[in-house]
Amino acid sequence: MTQKNMPVKELNASLSSLSQVDFKSGQLVHGKGFLKLTELPRIVDEIKKRFAEYEFSEQGLMWELHSWIDELPGGGQLYRIQLILDLAYPLECQRCLQAFSDELHIDSQFVMKESLEEVDNFPLDNDDEDALLTSHQFQLLELIEDEILLNLPLIPKHPPEVCDSKMIYIPGIAPSREGNVRHEEENEPKNPFASLKKLKFDA
Ligand SMILES: [Zn+2]
Repeated sequence: MTQKNMPVKELNASLSSLSQVDFKSGQLVHGKGFLKLTELPRIVDEIKKRFAEYEFSEQGLMWELHSWIDELPGGGQLYRIQLILDLAYPLECQRCLQAFSDELHIDSQFVMKESLEEVDNFPLDNDDEDALLTSHQFQLLELIEDEILLNLPLIPKHPPEVCDSKMIYIPGIAPSREGNVRHEEENEPKNPFASLKKLKFDA
């Protein structure tokens, strides 16, 4: 398959642009940016279900979108998009019931279809890509939320070397206070910029 050369439109990273991306303009669309978790209402709901008191601050995700057109050997063409998401997402470890932040890296490919029928008839067992209904006002923001929700682990767990195996959860019995304290110290997040900050102040 060869890729068709087309003008590329740089996507404006504002929330309103991400709610209406024109995939039918005849142009290719590229873009990347940062979104706060609080700008994704269904993600906020999902987090609140697990942690009612979860404090949202600047947590967010990096997104990147590419699109291209593949020309089929027998004529015809396929408009494809790739969506890459990187985020840290708060979860509750199902082994020790402590909150932890899981890194999600999502890389998904889609082929844009002109009709719902074509989307419905797209083979479900295609592991490489899914089909989406193309639009002049495609809800990219919704797709980003869908992809995060789809990719959350069903039974989130700390990696075994991090999870405090001594804190085995017995329903009805709270983990001991001592256990909690030790656990928190071990998992205290290290700010990767802490040393940079120090350098900056020293300079
Ligand atoms: Zn754990």
